[in-house]
Amino acid sequence: MAIIFLNLSECPICKKTLDDGQDIVLFPPFTSDKNHKFYLFNDEGVHRSCLQKTTLGLEALQFLETQLSI
Ligand SMILES: [Zn+2]
Repeated sequence: MAIIFLNLSECPICKKTLDDGQDIVLFPPFTSDKNHKFYLFNDEGVHRSCLQKTTLGLEALQFLETQLSI
């Protein structure tokens, strides 16, 4: 599970901080391959709304649900 610090950690999509009360998706560390399609989200917290705004984000959500089953 990603370790994030509310009000300090940044969302890799919008670069804004992850604040308390927001809907945040936590990605576990799932790769050390920097060329991995979803490396951007490796061990990160991301706003759910940001993920849903981009194709890559939606794919990453699906990847999280189907491949990582957390
Ligand atoms: Zn965001």
